[in-house]
Amino acid sequence: MNLSAKPKYRGRLAPSPTGLLHLGHARTFWVAQERARANGGTLVLRNEDIDSTRFKLEFVPQMIEDLRWFGFEWQEGPDCGGAFGPYSQSERRSFYTAALEKLRAGGFVYPCTCSRKDIRNAASAPNAGDDEGPIYPGTCRNKNLSTLNPQLSTRFSWRFRVPDGETISFTDGNFGEQKFVAGKDLGDFVVWRHDDVPAYQLACAVDDAAMGITEVVRGADLLLSTARQILLYRALGLTTPAFYHCALMLDKNGKRLAKRHDALSLRALREQGKTPESLRRF
Ligand SMILES: [Zn+2]
Repeated sequence: MNLSAKPKYRGRLAPSPTGLLHLGHARTFWVAQERARANGGTLVLRNEDIDSTRFKLEFVPQMIEDLRWFGFEWQEGPDCGGAFGPYSQSERRSFYTAALEKLRAGGFVYPCTCSRKDIRNAASAPNAGDDEGPIYPGTCRNKNLSTLNPQLSTRFSWRFRVPDGETISFTDGNFGEQKFVAGKDLGDFVVWRHDDVPAYQLACAVDDAAMGITEVVRGADLLLSTARQILLYRALGLTTPAFYHCALMLDKNGKRLAKRHDALSLRALREQGKTPESLRRF
């Protein structure tokens, strides 16, 4: 065995069944598929259905049908199995609880009882440049766990303590050198939610590592999340994959496409008689 050999390329598509897939997702996924093909690699389909408050079960078969219609072909997934399954996050809870346990044992996370409102009110805090909301002001950072009275069944989340002042850098396959400063560009982030659901950051990093993903291809809206996930890989002693972020598709008003743009859902485009071939041209 040649230990210096590069591991075989493994990429993934990781849609969440929270609505109809739209063209923006499909184009990012298409880049992922092209990169897996160009590298003679394997493409994994992972169903990110961890957040049962948001996803709808009936979207899963639709999502798989839409992906196939567009021309996606994956070698491992919830519909076809594979050596790294299960491929639906709702069936992988034991992976996430084990990771949380490791983070707790290592002192990387602390319980936080703040509500969203508390954080907004405390916040003179600037917003992180992405969907995570205001940078956490650190309210619960130095509270002792023992001050949480279990009898009160206080609901709390687990937050990851970022190394303030440290620059987290990585070379993105598309955008090149990226640098984010902990405590400034990103604050302490939730890894386990107060409703007892693993947060996206944790589930995603744990799965990419456990599924042997060598390159993560996804939208540029997740560049900052990559910095968070690099901290998680390090704390968990996991190998960090390579990253390739794609520019986001904008609507005609220059706004980012969201699931509410139903007119650009693959389903609607298909009903209008568009062909996958024409939609893949971009
Ligand atoms: Zn807090």
